[in-house]
Amino acid sequence: MGFLPIYVPRELLHAQGVLPVGLMGGRPDLEIIKGDAYYQSYICHLPRSTIELGLNGSYDALDGLIFPAICDVIRNLSGMWQMLFPKVLVHYLDVPQNFDPAIGGAFYRRDLESLSQALAARGARPLTADALRQSIALYNENRRLVRELYALRRREPWKVPTHELYVVLRAALVVPVEESTPMFADYLALTSADRSRRPQDQARVLVTGSFCEQPPLALIKTLERAGCYIVDDDFVQVHRFIRSDIPVDGDPLQSIVNALLTDAVASPTRYIADEVKGADLNQRATDSGAEGVLFCAPSFCDPALLDQPMAVRAVERTAIPWTAFKYAENNGQFQVIREQAGTFADSIKLWSGA
Ligand code: SF4
Repeated sequence: MGFLPIYVPRELLHAQGVLPVGLMGGRPDLEIIKGDAYYQSYICHLPRSTIELGLNGSYDALDGLIFPAICDVIRNLSGMWQMLFPKVLVHYLDVPQNFDPAIGGAFYRRDLESLSQALAARGARPLTADALRQSIALYNENRRLVRELYALRRREPWKVPTHELYVVLRAALVVPVEESTPMFADYLALTSADRSRRPQDQARVLVTGSFCEQPPLALIKTLERAGCYIVDDDFVQVHRFIRSDIPVDGDPLQSIVNALLTDAVASPTRYIADEVKGADLNQRATDSGAEGVLFCAPSFCDPALLDQPMAVRAVERTAIPWTAFKYAENNGQFQVIREQAGTFADSIKLWSGA
């Protein structure tokens, strides 16, 4: 089962013998021919590349797609998928915006039960509590290693270049958790032990806003070559959407529900009072030792750009400088971003007292 950004409870799919496959749009070199016909020209790029990849057969190996409710664009994409590919399972995961367990929690649980039944009707194993507990334990370990990688990058960012970490996180979207966990462990061991990478005179920045459509890898490299150490980010967020371990005792389905209600990141795709999100961003900047914040969102990303003014207000209440730019997954020219990020990094090094 493919799933669109940002978050689906992969544990549930795994427990039913289903491979969750994270889809994150197209590569920069993907030529969009038909996908453009389905969306207005100004809309973000991810839905049109997703349609293109569906129509050109790239997703033929998938038995279905899950569309989490993160914005109107993804909602519409799920409807288009139903019409374009009537034979595959299409599930719109209607993630609640009410975090009261008796209301949003009950609603979300019913949604997960209906997803589970739909999978079983297509040949997946019926869901059992024991299998779900085992899957939760596997994903807890997987998330723990990602948290360790992020912690190592915060401490010694020269050891974990983000353009490298990013590729590891993306690779983990398309292999079973039994393969991605050792992959994370190997990468962590290799980077921790590496003495050849030396610290450089780079500015530490937190990159935020890139949680759905992803920037081209070359953009991440551009930021690093412009003098930035990325010490926190929103990239490939499914790995960190739930902040801590999900309990393996008790009712495991309810534990997955509770994790979303109480332990998910303060994403722009969730309705939370603005002070909470601003405080969360500032806390992340403090925790990561960021000297600057880069608001780096896809062009026309409603959730990211609607939250950005309130996030900027929160950052401005601190002494941390910020700058902002937008991208599309198929951007090919980074000179302007390189100059902007380079100037930002230089100004931090010259005037921040770092
Ligand atoms: S990039 Fe933003 S607007 Fe586009 S599909 Fe993703 S969340 Fe929605």
